[in-house]
Amino acid sequence: MGQGHYFECKKCGNKEFRPVYSFCLRFYKVNFSDDLLYDKINEEKFECTKCNTKYTREEIQNILQQIKQQRKGKD
Ligand SMILES: [Zn+2]
Repeated sequence: MGQGHYFECKKCGNKEFRPVYSFCLRFYKVNFSDDLLYDKINEEKFECTKCNTKYTREEIQNILQQIKQQRKGKD
């Protein structure tokens, strides 16, 4: 078992996050029609349990990717 490399909060260094979800319907009109269409947007964020800084899944993935790249460089 190797050493764990965690995603850490940029602000406080905390390693624990809780998911935060927003559920949204975005309505828009289509030309020449009275129908309203809508997009469902389920936004997922992760909030630091200490300082409440929010991160998107992409941000976390990107940073984990960077950690992976750095590890490769050391071997
Ligand atoms: Zn934090």
